[in-house]
Amino acid sequence: MTAPVAREHPRGLVILGHPVAHSRSPVFQSAALEAAQLSVRYTRIDTPPDRLDDTLRQCAEERWGGNITVPLKELVAERCTRLSNVAMRAGAVNTFWFDGNQLVGHNTDVDGANATIDALCPNGLNGPVVLLGAGGSAAAVLVALTERKSAELTVIARTPERAEALLTRVGATGVVRSSDDALVNDLLGSASLVINATPIGMRDDALPVAIERLGSDTAVYDLVYRDLGTAWTRAAKARGLRAEDGLRMLVEQGAAAFHCWFGIEPSRDVMWKSLGLNGPPQHGAIRSST
Ligand code: NAP
Repeated sequence: MTAPVAREHPRGLVILGHPVAHSRSPVFQSAALEAAQLSVRYTRIDTPPDRLDDTLRQCAEERWGGNITVPLKELVAERCTRLSNVAMRAGAVNTFWFDGNQLVGHNTDVDGANATIDALCPNGLNGPVVLLGAGGSAAAVLVALTERKSAELTVIARTPERAEALLTRVGATGVVRSSDDALVNDLLGSASLVINATPIGMRDDALPVAIERLGSDTAVYDLVYRDLGTAWTRAAKARGLRAEDGLRMLVEQGAAAFHCWFGIEPSRDVMWKSLGLNGPPQHGAIRSST
């Protein structure tokens, strides 16, 4: 699928979210902009949902593009005058720009999810896939999963109706279960890939699923990222499982967004180094800082 590219470069870049102070996008995007010798600034704008329309009006006036984060991805998708196919299927936008008067929305979280799944499962998905969560990022993961030959899919969600609606919107075939469902244990034990798309583990060392419940050949993909990896990925690696947190997804969604805005590939090396890392995580090894 060809990614959309802006007809004119944005004059500035912003990340809109609430809260947004924690976002690392300004760090690695600014480094990539400098390396590409583009004199464009990338800044954060804390945007509560009730300020979204005013902020988007300002972006239109200033000809700014940028990224969207929690809790605005679905709200921006509703406001776009043009959506890429993947953004339409996900019902969520993480990358935007203006073409003339049109607000264009795309979803590069799908690229980030694809890159991570490819790295974790280079030989494809050979068993059930279990997705935890049914929010905006789960939507992007589901779009990525439907782009490949995927085995049986189960979504585990604490609000099952949200997961059912998500499967329908994305056009994915799958089963929805609650985490206390008796069948979930067997599923986890035979899964080729288990993906956490909930915020569990973001602020503490809580695990979305106990590592002992996973099979000995299950790959672990945590969308959450923390310095030195999340507790879940560290525990998985300690058990000898292939595991990645959300950092590769973060960098890859950012690189794909950069291509949308400027039509060129950014330096991923520069992006990783600006985060204090040598490159994407190596499976089996605890990440070390540069
Ligand atoms: P979201 O739209 O708020 O959805 C969160 C989902 O997790 C919902 O289904 C929610 O259930 C569920 N959930 C929340 N707390 C839970 C708990 N304690 N137990 C069970 N389920 C719980 O958020 P999102 O945008 O999908 O983001 C989810 C996570 O992914 C965040 O930590 C975010 O930082 C991360 N993320 C990472 C990247 C990356 O580049 N690495 C990109 C996007 C997102 P309900 O529907 O019942 O509320």
